[in-house]
Amino acid sequence: MSIRVRFAPSPTGYLHVGGARTALFNWLLAKKTGGTFVLRIEDTDRERSSDAHTKVILDGLTWLGLDWNEGPFFQGAYGDRHRADAERLLANGNAYRCFCSAEELEAQRKALPKGAAFKYDGRCGRLSAEESTRRIAAGSPSVIRFRVPTGEIAWDDAVHGRISFQGHDLDDFIILRSDGSAIYNMAVVSDDIAMQITHVIRGDDHVSNTPKQIALYRALGAGEPVFAHVPMILGADGKKLSKRHGATAVGDYQDMGILPVAMRNFLALLGWSPGDDLEILSEEEMVRRFSLEGIQSKPAVFDTAKLEWMNGQYLSALSASELREPVRRQLDRTGATVAPARLDSLIDAVKARSRTVIQLADQVAVRAEASRITEDDRATALRQKMGDSFNTSLRLAHAALAGIPEGEWTADRLVETLKTTATEKGVKLGDLMQPVRVALTGSTVSEPVNELLVAVGREESLKRLS
Ligand code: GLU
Repeated sequence: MSIRVRFAPSPTGYLHVGGARTALFNWLLAKKTGGTFVLRIEDTDRERSSDAHTKVILDGLTWLGLDWNEGPFFQGAYGDRHRADAERLLANGNAYRCFCSAEELEAQRKALPKGAAFKYDGRCGRLSAEESTRRIAAGSPSVIRFRVPTGEIAWDDAVHGRISFQGHDLDDFIILRSDGSAIYNMAVVSDDIAMQITHVIRGDDHVSNTPKQIALYRALGAGEPVFAHVPMILGADGKKLSKRHGATAVGDYQDMGILPVAMRNFLALLGWSPGDDLEILSEEEMVRRFSLEGIQSKPAVFDTAKLEWMNGQYLSALSASELREPVRRQLDRTGATVAPARLDSLIDAVKARSRTVIQLADQVAVRAEASRITEDDRATALRQKMGDSFNTSLRLAHAALAGIPEGEWTADRLVETLKTTATEKGVKLGDLMQPVRVALTGSTVSEPVNELLVAVGREESLKRLS
């Protein structure tokens, strides 16, 4: 049987990195096995769900390149089927009508000894059929509760191994509200059965729902899927990743200048290991190596520095033409003007030294427009340390470089000229080069100075030196 997986986000917020990783693992399993990746938007919480959130989620998945094969389906459209499944459980004795009002439940709760957890005592489950019918006829509002079987409910989780619950520890939970709408566990099971889902891969915050869902599958006479509960993502301090740690939305990373390929590679390694130390994986490699068994059961730590490092690796490895579009977008955002004819060579000049598209675009802009230069602290410190010799170096460099005609303004010729000047004037090469770098970029860090001079161009370089 072919594998069918689903990603089932609730459109009540942005696409969290944890959600994106869940989607990625589903996508990888579908890709690997030639299966089907279903996208289902769980929009049954009408107050908190919105079209805007749905759009953000779809955009995030698209940005990451996680294409789905079926959907998006909207859970809200299947209310009739959810209700029919709940009524089927009522008809086969696995569920019952409960007439307890909110006030009665509150009174039951209050009657408990202090500190005891409330568990519905199942009293309406003991009503006779006649009594139940009489109350319905009298117009008493009711919900439908699932009659949780006693005994063990266990499954072999693909990530955690055997997980076991006792039925008598769970209460007879509501599956259908008095207004006829289904509760989460009922809706999910109804949909997963109808959509023939074979593997449920989701965050392990859902582990406590799984015994309830398994009991529902069994009561509906349906085969259970494989469950794989993916461990949480923690911040660097070991606490569950949250806004306190900084960005948690996929869109934030896009805005920070992270490339989608880098983000996807990084997310894949959050909790999954390809089996060795390999860190940079192409899509093919990731798909080839992926398995549910490779997902670790201990929580993963979100390391932003590693994400930036990985992004830097992709920036160096990708060609200028592949980077052109994101860089152009960032340049437009900051209002920098860079002639299209120069863009690729400027990207090539700086991509190996950038960790984000933002840094890359800033460096491109600095080389194209003098007004984009801002002097950094190390450059200021160098200028102060060198004192008069800083300006002397700039004068020497200017005089020597001005003698090179436009047609000979090449990296080889430039380095040769600078070296000769340093030797002839008795200046250390570094003391000649660093001031040039600062004058051209405002920074002590850049590509080799001769390449920098080529990137900035003859006329503009001489202007900056003077
Ligand atoms: N809609 C649920 C959520 O966003 C996921 C349900 C599931 O994966 O079973 O947490």
